Formats: sequence, C-alpha cells, structure tokens
Amino acid sequence: MTRVYSHPDPSITHLVQNALRSAGIDAVVQGERHGAAMGEVPPIAAWSEVWVGDGAALEAARAVVAEVTREPAETPSPWTCALCGETVEGQFGACWSCGNPQPEG
Ligand SMILES: [Zn+2]
Repeated sequence: MTRVYSHPDPSITHLVQNALRSAGIDAVVQGERHGAAMGEVPPIAAWSEVWVGDGAALEAARAVVAEVTREPAETPSPWTCALCGETVEGQFGACWSCGNPQPEG
C-alpha cells in the first residue's frame, strides 16, 4: 500500500477516495479521527490519508489525485512596477510599495 494523498479535512480525503473508486481503483482512508478527538491532538496527527495498492493502480491513482486536487487557476507571474521598479507578486493588481496599478496586458 502507498499513500497518495493526505489532508487535515477528512471530507477532502473522502472526496479523493470517491474519485479513485469511480475510476475503478480500490482506495482506503486511514488516520482520520472522529468527533472529540479533533482539537486534542496536534494538527498533523489528525491528518487523514488516502492509500492505494501498489503496482499498476498506483500510477493511475496519482493521476486521479492530481486531477481532483488541481488548483483552479494558475498563479499569475510577477510584474515590475513602472513607477518605482518594485517586483510585485502576480496576484496583486497594484504595486504594494507605491499603489501604482498593474499595467494592462
Ligand atoms: Zn510601485
């Protein structure tokens, strides 16, 4: 068995598990805690995990996991402010230093 995914929210790991089973891959969720145990253990210990069998299913499972957990949008690339020359992270529409708006295009 190999772990292909882990997440602190068991509903997310079950989402991945369901997607794997829909693809014909036998997946099991391990490590989830129930009810009162949440909050009493270090967060990392409460993470639930999705495990699949080794072999051919593993490659297929990784592809399914990548598809299910794919980020909805790519992170925009950084841009340089024309006024002050600062480098601004792509998700910001204006310069963090001087407030100059990002040029179109
Ligand atoms: Zn600027």
